[in-house]
Amino acid sequence: MKQIVPNWLKKRAELTPNRIAIMFEDETYTFKQVFESAKKIAGQLTNFGLEKGSSAAVLISNHADSVMILYALQMLGVRTVILNNRLTSKELLWQLEDSKAEILLYENAFVEKISTIKNTYQHVVVEKEALFKEKIANAVLQEEYDLDDVTTIMYTSGTTGNPKGVLQTFGNHWWSATASALNLGLSDSERWLCAVPIFHISGYSILMRSLIYGMTIILHHSFKEKDAIEEILSNSVTMMSVVSTMLMKINDLLEVGQLPESFRGMLLGGGPAPLSLLEDCKRKGIPVYQSYGMTETASQFATLAPEYSIEKLGSAGKALFPNQIKIIDEAETELANGSEGEILVKGPNVTPGYLNREQETSKKMKNGWFHTGDIGYLDGDGFLYVLDRRSDLIISGGENIYPAEIESVLVSHEDVVEAGIVGMDHPSWGQVPAAFVVKKKESTISENDLKEYCMERLAKYKVPKLITFVEELPRNASRKLLRKDLREWLKRELT
Ligand code: ATP
Ligand code: MG
Repeated sequence: MKQIVPNWLKKRAELTPNRIAIMFEDETYTFKQVFESAKKIAGQLTNFGLEKGSSAAVLISNHADSVMILYALQMLGVRTVILNNRLTSKELLWQLEDSKAEILLYENAFVEKISTIKNTYQHVVVEKEALFKEKIANAVLQEEYDLDDVTTIMYTSGTTGNPKGVLQTFGNHWWSATASALNLGLSDSERWLCAVPIFHISGYSILMRSLIYGMTIILHHSFKEKDAIEEILSNSVTMMSVVSTMLMKINDLLEVGQLPESFRGMLLGGGPAPLSLLEDCKRKGIPVYQSYGMTETASQFATLAPEYSIEKLGSAGKALFPNQIKIIDEAETELANGSEGEILVKGPNVTPGYLNREQETSKKMKNGWFHTGDIGYLDGDGFLYVLDRRSDLIISGGENIYPAEIESVLVSHEDVVEAGIVGMDHPSWGQVPAAFVVKKKESTISENDLKEYCMERLAKYKVPKLITFVEELPRNASRKLLRKDLREWLKRELT
């Protein structure tokens, strides 16, 4: 039987019309105002033939207007391809063609990227201000949503290969928001600081929580650590979403015990976090909820509460309420707690599959379990530890080495800014770890100093056999480390 729910924004505007939905720069918008604006934009979008079942791509930044556009598209029943605005023109074009989006809406800030796309992309391209000047046609707003309908399509970060368009249903977002609330709890004075991009699931999921909970979003155009701290201290922020680089910058500026009681926590996601950072946050009284999730799980899937942050240091906690995790070996047999293997996830926030990629979908989705391609284990108490991506695993003399563990040790050194580890062929061990390190400008640290530092903290076989100092590391548009590029760098280094 279909599960039908009423239009989220409309329902929210009926329930709590005067509650603040969005704070952006110097403006605040109530849910009623947001609904009225989004309705107006839906009317303007209707002039371009957008209706239930159409697909539209958007290239936008964190801005109140962008939120209204996203809500308008959702209410029209349009499948929205939310593009990462840091992508190059070439990458954007690839995603536009791959997704077959019928129309592209963009913000003027990205006009240069668009100018090269326009020649090849044979569809309607509309700039935001031009859209806002359109006459307001009669829009057919969806009164109800079917939880199985796709509402957004988001591409994966492309860390391990080409990005894949992930289908995200209303149900995925609904359950993601619900699972989060069942874990973190909810008060009617909730204020979530969103300084992560709304084109990512980390940011977009905050919008969905806002609609479903009736929660205020404090939206920042981009992340600036000083502004974020100032906001938390002066504006009763209760939660903030961060990735580890953001948390590092915040942690550097905060003093012990500086955060107010009303601040409940930093929801940390997106990738591994160095243990030294988590320890330092604990010391300073910065509550951190370490989480594990991906575009395919519509945000966090497992989360560790701060009360366990030392006892279970480095763990991503347990699967949130309606979710399940299991670990399997190469033969796809379920493993007991304590054994390392591939992480499988199952639950209502898991995507039904990839856009136009049936093969890839059936390879990863088997018997209702999604194969994440990540390696990890559950400890004796059932807490999840994510080790690394299967494709980045280094096997040295029969031992598994996880690059993230070595990187975590390297960045705990005060002279190291960032580090990346890849496997290097070795005649007797098969592979050994090699490191690329960015050190602080003034640092005089040598390769040997760093090796010694690692020796004191890691088993010998995990100590990088080669350390190359570089100016910066290769990262994708989501700022994730591209180890596939590091492997190329290493080849060059060795020839
Ligand atoms: P692609 O799938 O295209 O290679 P991606 O996997 O980087 O890109 P995302 O969906 O943005 O795309 O990222 C999800 C991935 O981030 C997870 O599969 C996992 O590898 C990593 N990740 C998320 N949380 C954690 C965590 N707590 N610890 C370690 N890794 C994590
Ligand atoms: Mg992935």
